[in-house]
Amino acid sequence: MRKVFYKKMTSEITEIKLTENGFSLNETFGAKANLFKWNEINNIHFSENNENVIIEKSDKKFVLKNCNIGWYDLIQNVPLNFTNFDFAYVKNFIESLKPCKICGIVALNKNECIVCENVPWNSAMTETEIDYIKTKQLDFYSESINEKREIKKIAEPEHGFKADKNWKLYI
Ligand SMILES: [Zn+2]
Repeated sequence: MRKVFYKKMTSEITEIKLTENGFSLNETFGAKANLFKWNEINNIHFSENNENVIIEKSDKKFVLKNCNIGWYDLIQNVPLNFTNFDFAYVKNFIESLKPCKICGIVALNKNECIVCENVPWNSAMTETEIDYIKTKQLDFYSESINEKREIKKIAEPEHGFKADKNWKLYI
């Protein structure tokens, strides 16, 4: 799987990874992972603005932000027995996302892509749509290009988001 590090996230220290019976919080710079098991969690719910998830254990509370890597994967994998968790919100949110023509991930939310953070082309822009997408793809994949890594021509699901089968790479 291609690994996308969201630009915003490079300053974030936490990566959430699902495990067999829970998830882990990993600090980016090598510190030990913090393991969570679902059966040790008393409550899991969204903050009022739905941008954070609050995890309550018997002795501690943890706040996971939507800019943490893996957050969108986590919210789609909360076990159904957490009845305070807003499963309907998650379903509606994921279904409301549109495909991003730049990175190929179905992650366009309110006119900005959660994964590549670009806005889609619109007719008020001076360049053509293809030129715009090409410029943004060159920018998004600049690291892979510099390191001469192959860029996949077919988008693959990432971090809990679906991929767009009709996506095109123009570079
Ligand atoms: Zn995108």
